[in-house]
Amino acid sequence: MYDPFEFCKKVQAQVCRDNLRKYYRIARAGKWYGGIATADCCGCQLRCVFCWSGKPRDNPGAIGSFYRPQDVFKALVRCAKKHKYHQLRISGNEPTLHREHLISILRLVEQTSFTFILETNGLLIDREYARSLKPFRNLHVRVSIKGSTPEEFTTLTGAKPEFFYYQLDALKHLYEASVSCHPAVMLSITPPQNLERLKQELKSISTTLADEIEEEYIFLYPHVIQRLKQHGIEPLVAYSPEGIPTELI
Ligand code: SF4
Repeated sequence: MYDPFEFCKKVQAQVCRDNLRKYYRIARAGKWYGGIATADCCGCQLRCVFCWSGKPRDNPGAIGSFYRPQDVFKALVRCAKKHKYHQLRISGNEPTLHREHLISILRLVEQTSFTFILETNGLLIDREYARSLKPFRNLHVRVSIKGSTPEEFTTLTGAKPEFFYYQLDALKHLYEASVSCHPAVMLSITPPQNLERLKQELKSISTTLADEIEEEYIFLYPHVIQRLKQHGIEPLVAYSPEGIPTELI
């Protein structure tokens, strides 16, 4: 088991430089959220078994290029205009690793009518980070929680169980800073009683957060099946890459 904050420093050394951040693709059209312009960054401090990112996560030093915030912003806007999208995001890995770079992009987005969806595992969003996101009115944060308990978190990520609570704390800090946010939860190995417990924990932050849970499930890409086998994990619910529930295949 690893400490994701210690590991994070090593990843940041590879993907953050001055106000530049490493990306392996800017930008592409994405079908999520009804259509969203997407830039894909490199590097993450977690090692989720279900992650669809390959080399950009596992060896970010060997792939991609460094970009300035204005380069990423311009590419996203160009892509969004071409496809008539109203939303922008950074995906692929963990966008919060370089706070100054992210904030610079958000400042540029704030001068437009686009909405920026920040997809994050939430680990780095402490009170100060959440407050730095407060000024951005066209920002929405989706905190993707790995499992519903510390034990599930460890099974899914290989990280120490106590770091599960940093994800819930991220939601608390965002909520207290009045930053628009909601939780997404990876539920593929979650029995119903554990989900109920998580809902109670979220309700202690805000009743609306518990009601707004977005359910996430494992997609069985070949490399994900391999990782699940290696770790001896059998999902209770999973989908084929085409989105078909496994019990129907
Ligand atoms: S947090 Fe996201 S990017 Fe990071 S390993 Fe997990 S699924 Fe992949």
